[in-house]
Amino acid sequence: MARYKDATCRLCRREGQKLFLKGDRCYSDKCAITRRSYAPGQHGQARKKLSEYGLQLREKQKARRIYGILERQFSNYFAKAERMKGVTGENLLVLLERRLDNVVYRLGFADSRTQARQLVRHGHFTVNGKKVSIPSYLVRPGDVIAVREKSKESSLFKEIAAAATHRSVPAWLKADPAALEGHVLSLPTREQIDVPVQEHLIVELYSK
Ligand code: SF4
Repeated sequence: MARYKDATCRLCRREGQKLFLKGDRCYSDKCAITRRSYAPGQHGQARKKLSEYGLQLREKQKARRIYGILERQFSNYFAKAERMKGVTGENLLVLLERRLDNVVYRLGFADSRTQARQLVRHGHFTVNGKKVSIPSYLVRPGDVIAVREKSKESSLFKEIAAAATHRSVPAWLKADPAALEGHVLSLPTREQIDVPVQEHLIVELYSK
């Protein structure tokens, strides 16, 4: 599966804000945005006024980068969101939030979506008792996401369980850190999705 392999912090610097892609490091003074809060590259410090298209493009790139998704898959999500009832921009964000790797991160069972994706890929999670190793799997209300019994014994998951007790979980999910288990109570509403993305700009971009 194709994935982004370049320096992660460049992505935040390009968007000019913290996207919290690296877990604990993002909250420390080692964060690249704290140290060099300008865009990467030779002309990164030059002042640039973005065109309307530029603003829309940046918003789409930001959303892609937050959820760690490449272009083709992102446009597939958009096409799916367009076919759904309701507001396309909100549908898009709800689809992205429902990804299993995002849900594992939201439940506090991973430091970042990148780590969550790796843990899912390595087969550490089950959904409704069945092993699921596909990060893009879309959860539904009523689903139970749990760490596999075999994996619970590892020191990594013991640390994760301890850390998860201090994390806040969005209201559409319920976490049980001691049991390394989480429940999907409902689909998220737009207000419950705390990503700094103006989705209407993404809709405008794809509507051109
Ligand atoms: Fe972004 Fe985190 Fe890197 Fe800071 S440390 S630039 S928030 S990925």
